[in-house]
Amino acid sequence: MSQREQMPRETRAVPSTKQGDCRVGVGYDSHRFAPGRALILGGVRIKSDVGLLGHSDADAVCHAITDAVLGAAGLGDIGEMFPDTDPANKDRDSIEMLEAAVERISVAGFLVRNVDVSVIAEAPRLSPEREKIRTRLASALGVDSSAVSVKGKSNEGMGWIGRGEGLACIAVATLVGKGK
Ligand SMILES: [Zn+2]
Repeated sequence: MSQREQMPRETRAVPSTKQGDCRVGVGYDSHRFAPGRALILGGVRIKSDVGLLGHSDADAVCHAITDAVLGAAGLGDIGEMFPDTDPANKDRDSIEMLEAAVERISVAGFLVRNVDVSVIAEAPRLSPEREKIRTRLASALGVDSSAVSVKGKSNEGMGWIGRGEGLACIAVATLVGKGK
């Protein structure tokens, strides 16, 4: 019998916390545009005629990053952590949810190393608020803002994004083991 097979099952199920252990996670989110809602992306209010519809504040950037962070550690997803059936999550600040996810992966022995996000939308343009978003996210993630990248892309007029029905975000997060 190999050494690995002799290990109790619980030991194998616990995420690795070896120092320097590197993990990668991906997250995706999309929300529909709606009038009369604030547009909040990465914890920053963006000037726009329409906002995003959702149970929480519909911050698709935070939601995609939260899923990427949890996914990298193999610790579930945002829907499990903050069910939209829970009234406590109504209009909830998504930066808070991201901070809770970072706390969860920290308890499991990981730190965030960097995050890269693409926001796919025809409008508005993110560039005027990009640095503010990076700073806000960096503080929630416990990293320097140089470790947070936020990129805006149009969908070249194609499909539901092209028609301006909503926006989508894709995030990648890398984590590093603290070696606790
Ligand atoms: Zn969302």
